[in-house]
Amino acid sequence: MPAGTLFIVATPIGNLADLSPRALETLRQVAAVCAEDTRRSGQLLAHFGVERPLIALHEHNEDALAQRIVARLQAGESLALVSDAGTPLVSDPGYRVVRAARAAGIPVSPVPGACAAIAALSVAGLPSDRFVFEGFLPAKASARRDQLAALAGESRTLVFYESSHRIAESLADMRAAFGDARPAVLARELTKLFETVLDGNLADLHRRVETDDNQRKGEFVVIVQGAGEDADAQIAEGRRVYTLLNAHLPPSAAAKLAAEITGAPRKALYGQKD
Ligand code: SAM
Repeated sequence: MPAGTLFIVATPIGNLADLSPRALETLRQVAAVCAEDTRRSGQLLAHFGVERPLIALHEHNEDALAQRIVARLQAGESLALVSDAGTPLVSDPGYRVVRAARAAGIPVSPVPGACAAIAALSVAGLPSDRFVFEGFLPAKASARRDQLAALAGESRTLVFYESSHRIAESLADMRAAFGDARPAVLARELTKLFETVLDGNLADLHRRVETDDNQRKGEFVVIVQGAGEDADAQIAEGRRVYTLLNAHLPPSAAAKLAAEITGAPRKALYGQKD
């Protein structure tokens, strides 16, 4: 074990057998393990018979803790950093500690492993050569809708994290922002007992989640295909149909119908005059 190195160690996202032999060896050999939730990581280490001191690392104490961690590393101790599940720093704490260690010239070395976003992408069957990781959408509906609206024209595949509380709302907002017809994949409980990977378009996935309580349970990655080259033409056609319908129907009903007929995102049509 090289002295004074900070190891960023990925842990499983469900199936404990996904902890790599090198991750286990690293956790056994470091002086201490910085963990997001010491109770959870303590259980993981105990499961593997690893007895190492744990240092609690939270978003709110990361800056202060970073200095203490750097001091220990500078004194020659090697430390590991883990999060509750998967790869640290990916929608998880650790970035400030890594930044402080790098600024101090300390070697920071990855021990890679599970990451829910990459695991989901690897089974989605959607274009994966270029993708955008969006992490969690904002909890507030207006901020979430604004963020999705800003992504409507993005041509790369989109990757989102979502929790059981908001999966139905988020899929509804994605339908409105990207259109019912946009291909998508819902990856739930990956590597766990109830692993489910559903594919279809956003309307199909939203309906499945709305009508089946089980499909709202657990942890989710939502993967949405990027906007196609024909997206502009589709929106233009949607607006044309919207204008025709709006002569006879209220704007919201006209937008809903025009979106259904043309596959254009409802958000892009509502309130458009031409
Ligand atoms: N650092 C983790 C990683 O590498 O994937 C992500 C941590 S983030 C706080 C937790 C979110 O990741 C969950 O809300 C869910 O969106 C996603 N996630 C984690 N485990 C998952 C799993 N087994 N199946 C599907 N999504 C998962």
